[in-house]
Amino acid sequence: MQLMKSNSRLVKLTIRAATLLLVVLVCPSSQPNSTIAVEGMFPINEIASLDLGSTGLKLSADQVFSTEKTCLVDGICRVNTCTGSFVSADGLIITNHHCAYRAIQTASTAERDYLADGFQARSRADEIPSRGYTVRITESFRDVSQEVLSAVTSNMTFLDRTQAIEKRQKELEKFAESENPGLRAEVAEMFTGKSYMLFLYTYLKDVRLVFAPPASIGNFGGDVDNWEWPRHTGDFSFMRAYVSPDGASAEYSPNNVPYKPKRFLQVEASGVGENDFVMLLGYPGRTARHKTSHFLQYERDQRLPFIVDLYQWEIGVMQAAGRDNRSLALKHTNRIQSLANVEKRSRGQLKGLNRAQLVETRLQQESALQDYINNDPERVRRHGRLLPDIGRVYHELSTQAPLELTQANLVITCRSLALAFTIYDAARERVKPDIEREVAYMDRNYELTVQQLLLAHQDLDLPTDRIMLQGMLERLVKLNGNQPAPPSKTQSDSILDFVRGFQDKQALSDFVVAYVAGTRIGEKESLQKYLQLSPQELDQSPDTAIRLVAKCYPRLMELRAIDKRREGALSQLYGELLSAKQAFLADNFVPDANSTLRLTHGTVRGFSPEDAVYKSPITTLKGVVEKTTGEAPFIMPRRVLDLFQQRAFGRFAHPVLGQVPVALLYDTDTTGGNSGSPILNNEGKLVGVNFDRAFEATINDFAWNQNYSRSIGVDIRYVLWITGNVFGATQLLEEMEVPSR
Ligand code: ASP
Repeated sequence: MQLMKSNSRLVKLTIRAATLLLVVLVCPSSQPNSTIAVEGMFPINEIASLDLGSTGLKLSADQVFSTEKTCLVDGICRVNTCTGSFVSADGLIITNHHCAYRAIQTASTAERDYLADGFQARSRADEIPSRGYTVRITESFRDVSQEVLSAVTSNMTFLDRTQAIEKRQKELEKFAESENPGLRAEVAEMFTGKSYMLFLYTYLKDVRLVFAPPASIGNFGGDVDNWEWPRHTGDFSFMRAYVSPDGASAEYSPNNVPYKPKRFLQVEASGVGENDFVMLLGYPGRTARHKTSHFLQYERDQRLPFIVDLYQWEIGVMQAAGRDNRSLALKHTNRIQSLANVEKRSRGQLKGLNRAQLVETRLQQESALQDYINNDPERVRRHGRLLPDIGRVYHELSTQAPLELTQANLVITCRSLALAFTIYDAARERVKPDIEREVAYMDRNYELTVQQLLLAHQDLDLPTDRIMLQGMLERLVKLNGNQPAPPSKTQSDSILDFVRGFQDKQALSDFVVAYVAGTRIGEKESLQKYLQLSPQELDQSPDTAIRLVAKCYPRLMELRAIDKRREGALSQLYGELLSAKQAFLADNFVPDANSTLRLTHGTVRGFSPEDAVYKSPITTLKGVVEKTTGEAPFIMPRRVLDLFQQRAFGRFAHPVLGQVPVALLYDTDTTGGNSGSPILNNEGKLVGVNFDRAFEATINDFAWNQNYSRSIGVDIRYVLWITGNVFGATQLLEEMEVPSR
């Protein structure tokens, strides 16, 4: 990993662990070795300033991360929106089963059902190309805050501000890519409106499926157990990255060769124990720890309840559609799985927001900050209106939420409309100069956008879509009756205008029937053809999906502009708020997660999520067998049950529990995107793969707390036992250099 040469200084946020340190809890059952639990998904440039030695880690900071030499971080990659680790010199990657899910689903048919039966490549030639998968490796980074913020002037409107920042980011990315051919540049906002980093990445585009256990293991417990502890899910899979023979990133070709990572992780086949130090490296997606109480209220009262309601309905529709039709069920399975994941997480967050009284706590903190500001006339002049102004933005967002969220989701929920929207939007954007386009349609991104479109097309089922469209239109009709007055009189709403045209329920149903009959978007050739049409040609299209998008488009563009205006306002206000908070608390903070590489550390430990309940931190095969009912999602392959009966645990039994350990619980600071993160022991060796959090820890996205923040990973011993002993893929254990005894 390199530090990019630049005049800019690196973001120098010296994290004083002491100030963030949230006092340690001694585990009720025993005394942890490592007693420091801290909040923090630390950016890699801050690793050197962490006192990792005192946590029990035996590696020096520069063995973990260095700009000068090969380090542990070089063994970590991002697999689509998850994390993965290289575990062999030949580009073998371990990640979660749920991260490889789309690849397994795509390769499966009702007759050759890898989701149900699992998959094992007997040779490299059998590894299955996974279209739509990329592996991203962080190469270097630098601070570009000054360059980004110099695009902003004080007299800009909020919309102009967002557009100026976006444009500058795009310019920086394009320039960096022209200077570093073959690499991809991405600017990440570290602190809203305040600091930005430019990362250079290698993207590998030929990714193949190597091994996946059956979903009965990889997704054992399904949605019932998702976000829960105790857990017994073998949520892991193996993939492999390939490059062209000259080592360059390339699309799939049979001539490609395995990628040689700079570094791969060593597997520790004897695992880790309760109270041991663990550390995770990975790409956590998004957190909102620096947002105000107004944001939390918006989440609690508007967005999360909306998501729970909408997703429950969508899942129900798709489950019913696939009940007696395995091909259709396979088509929907990836979508159901991701919706169910977010739906349950949202319920956890709602519960946590109320139970942990996060809004109230944040209000108290803000009131103390406001007092501090009010105590000094200069501070009043600079920051006096900050909190009320932020509140106003969220107030507007909240009052408009039911309508805006429903309208935005109209073109997400109905897959055919989602496809038509991308086609229509792309055509309009692609005629603009490259730098002025929405990011997805810039030349550097368009190929990926089309690839995602084709993948999404695979899941389209028009009869299901008919129900989705009908349901969404009915929601809009209802909202039309009781929606609040628009903020400005000039604001038109082409979607509501359209919906007002339905005289009664029958008219709506007739429209939906005609919609399905009149679209060819389900045919791949039509989709490809539409992608070639100009905006004018699309406006003439008789296809009902394109026509409906054309009707909705003015309002959707208005929503896009409204979003950018709010983003511009919040960017400026949050930037100033951070300065005020830093002065008040005399401290710096860890930036919110933003899909860039982070480190978090903690201890394997249980917790007490409810009064009188203590949950210990290691589950075992015995628990798997006890949970097995033979009914989904608690089915186990016969061979697992037989090996359990025979106590054929090989060398993978836990020394004290006498069973194969299955899952681990630990108090690191993680969020979505940490799925697939390696769990590393104090020597930096792989002892498991992170895949989830406890229900109470879904609230991590808003606040971390040592009492309830617990992450969940699959124990490496279960991974090795399932792979080698149950499915006989011993070649993979050899490849990972796991000693045979
Ligand atoms: N299973 C989780 C996910 O959806 C991981 C997490 O959020 O902790 O990515």
